[in-house]
Amino acid sequence: MICFALLLVPWIQDPDRSSPEKTVQAFVEFGDSLAPENLFIMLLKQVDEMQRFARTEEFHKKKAKEFEDLSEWLEQSKPISSKFEIVGRVDGKDGRVTVDSVKRVRKAKIDPQTRKKAGEEDQTLPYRHVVRKVGEVWMVEEVYEPCPLCGGAGTCRGCQGTGTAHARECFSCQGKKACSSCHGGKLRKRELVKEGGLELVEPDGEMTFSKDLSTAKASAQTLLDLSIRGALEWSALLKTFVERVLVPFRLFVVPETVKKFEERFAAEKVEGKERFRKNRPRLESVEERDGQAYVVIVTVGNWGRFIRSSDDKGEHRTRYVLKQVETRWFLDAEHHPCWGCRETPGKCRSCKGTGKVGEQDCTGCKGSKQCSQCKGEGWRPR
Ligand SMILES: [Zn+2]
Ligand SMILES: [Zn+2]
Ligand SMILES: [Zn+2]
Ligand SMILES: [Zn+2]
Repeated sequence: MICFALLLVPWIQDPDRSSPEKTVQAFVEFGDSLAPENLFIMLLKQVDEMQRFARTEEFHKKKAKEFEDLSEWLEQSKPISSKFEIVGRVDGKDGRVTVDSVKRVRKAKIDPQTRKKAGEEDQTLPYRHVVRKVGEVWMVEEVYEPCPLCGGAGTCRGCQGTGTAHARECFSCQGKKACSSCHGGKLRKRELVKEGGLELVEPDGEMTFSKDLSTAKASAQTLLDLSIRGALEWSALLKTFVERVLVPFRLFVVPETVKKFEERFAAEKVEGKERFRKNRPRLESVEERDGQAYVVIVTVGNWGRFIRSSDDKGEHRTRYVLKQVETRWFLDAEHHPCWGCRETPGKCRSCKGTGKVGEQDCTGCKGSKQCSQCKGEGWRPR
């Protein structure tokens, strides 16, 4: 696994940093070559293969198809061509130089409905780097990237910069026409050292994992172990990736920032041990009925989540449906809490499961009292 992670980071030995422009150019090229989506794909594949022995053939096929669709979508999201150009330079009195640049990118237009390519579009993405001299070379101190809300256009997305939407003053920008995040500045500062974000999980020692599928209960334990293993794999992969990225990072970024980054990374590993002890996933219930078993596993925060949100400290439940095939219990489906009835699982939201709204029969559930989206299950397939 580690050797794959190494392949993702190009080996850069002695980039040209003899002028502010050269440093910025080489730094941007390095950033482009990282392609973090490859890391993501690799991880999903690993977790997929790891879980395979515990899945029914049907579920495995379904997962494989999902994976294929995602890879295809990621592939299509990549720029078809990209041209980097330096467009301005301002020399500050304090020895710092601000370099403005743009990336002219051609991308596939993806139809949000079909997720298929529907033409191509051009984008001009603005960047700004503040550099200064460290010894004989120029190094990066600050990085500004296209504002994520407007994609670096600077104009309001709600009204396309016209100030008017749906025949009235645009609600998003209050008629000001500028993006409400960058106020027309097009850029947002990228923090080179961020609090959190990696959410590593580090085990204290060697772990052993169950592979037993002989009973529903044993399979539940095996699935719990797989959830832990998935998080550990992700964590290990991220750690290797960061360690490897640090090598070129040190060549481009001013030493104080690198030091802060290294300290933050070291702290993250310590926190990862704590996180592993405190927040590990737990088995909430195992229930057998009608020849199937339902296993609920609770995870905390970003544990094992591939797409993460910052400050997520909440509990997340996943229900696994197990099916008996000959003498073993296999994973056959994955369910998530139904969004339609999350406050009162399984019950109709309009009437809170009473079947009545005032004196009237509830029109939401037509008197069935059940949530119409999940038919009273409280869970929905992924
Ligand atoms: Zn607007
Ligand atoms: Zn903006
Ligand atoms: Zn109702
Ligand atoms: Zn529901």
